[in-house]
Amino acid sequence: MSQEDCAVCTRPAYTFCEYCANFDDTGVPVDARWYCTPLCQDIDRLSHNDKCTNMASDKELFGRAKQAGEAAQALFYAFIEHTWAYDMSGVHVFPGMKGELLTIEVIHGPDTGPKGESVCERTGGRWLIKFPHGTFGSAEQSVKRALLADRHSVWAFVFMCVAMQLLFEDLVDDVENKIKEIVHYLPKHASRIITHRASDRYLVTDREDLLYPDDDFYGVLKGVYRITLKNGTKIALDLAGAQYNLAHNTVMPWAEYLDRWAADTKYRLPFRTHYNKHSELMSKLHSPTHLGLVTEQMACFNTLLKNCEYELGFDLKDLPLENIDHFRKCMRRLAIAAEDSLLQRPRDLDAELAASSENVSRDAMTDELECIPGDIGDMKYFDWSKLSKTIAMPSSSNVTYKEKKRSKLLLKYRCAYKLPGDWRLVFMETSLPSVWVPKHCTSENPFFGKRK
Ligand SMILES: [Zn+2]
Ligand SMILES: [Zn+2]
Repeated sequence: MSQEDCAVCTRPAYTFCEYCANFDDTGVPVDARWYCTPLCQDIDRLSHNDKCTNMASDKELFGRAKQAGEAAQALFYAFIEHTWAYDMSGVHVFPGMKGELLTIEVIHGPDTGPKGESVCERTGGRWLIKFPHGTFGSAEQSVKRALLADRHSVWAFVFMCVAMQLLFEDLVDDVENKIKEIVHYLPKHASRIITHRASDRYLVTDREDLLYPDDDFYGVLKGVYRITLKNGTKIALDLAGAQYNLAHNTVMPWAEYLDRWAADTKYRLPFRTHYNKHSELMSKLHSPTHLGLVTEQMACFNTLLKNCEYELGFDLKDLPLENIDHFRKCMRRLAIAAEDSLLQRPRDLDAELAASSENVSRDAMTDELECIPGDIGDMKYFDWSKLSKTIAMPSSSNVTYKEKKRSKLLLKYRCAYKLPGDWRLVFMETSLPSVWVPKHCTSENPFFGKRK
């Protein structure tokens, strides 16, 4: 039994006040008020009552935040799983002595698009890859979570924005000011359990399919939400913690999180900052890309979350519920609906693509489309002068006014570039690619700066 003493008579304690006690994950009470007997508990009632009420309401609020966090975590995994574009030709799991996950080794697939086809099943007009379920053996769930979380903590700020607003708006005073997006360095004892290798088994240090990977030139970064609840309690919402060798809780007190997970903070930004930056970037993309598709999926996903009450009969902000069975039931329905909304666009795309590929003949393609290289390797052969030819073509030809206008802009302002991990090209019509596009992925426009 416990080592605690009775709060009244200091004899060894065997019972505690159940209203205000907190419990750890194994159900052991922590921070409880202990008593030797119910008699001493009765004696203490008057003096403990006020404090007990406060502590009980803190406990309730933390409990609701934990449930909201649990819902956010489920949505996070569902989103990544159904927007997967990372080609893995093999996954090897190495458990430790106690069966814990020690290392997951991922072997890259070819991922080179039209020329070197992958064995993975592609969906969504071939933009996405079906997440390889059922290949991880007995440790399946934890391996899957680690893979889904891998380097995704900053990306989580973008696509979880609407979900976070809805799940936490009743638990904080003001979403805009009480939720922060924090990016920090990891302490020395933390490391990723996933290693990446190329198909020739050489170690790969960066995963180029990600737009906002959790690292920079100087170290390993990780993002986490810091949420100040209505009673002033600060908590950490850590959606991508499953990729590390540290015991992971989605929601934990902020001080405990800092202690276990964080070295220096790199930056602290207001809620929605990453989402707004991403939206701005997306508004500049004018060609179909993997990222464009994911953004469309995000829109479907967010629409479902906003219309949750209409679609599923409960509001997302009411989801943290007293009745745990009811909560689980709602969560299951939410997960199924989220999956459905995320698959909707890729399904349409597959159907449309199947329908249209029969009708489109090569003759219908314009000069402009033909001159766009198919892969990054062909980038240096990109023929910018073909754009001039497109512009000069007579209006009655196959070239539409829109294409001519686009060619004009392309010629005037910018370069073409290939998104990391994406074999199709992206053109930005109004600005140069930002710094996150690697130099070797861009093709400078030789006419840039020479024309008015
Ligand atoms: Zn006692
Ligand atoms: Zn109490």
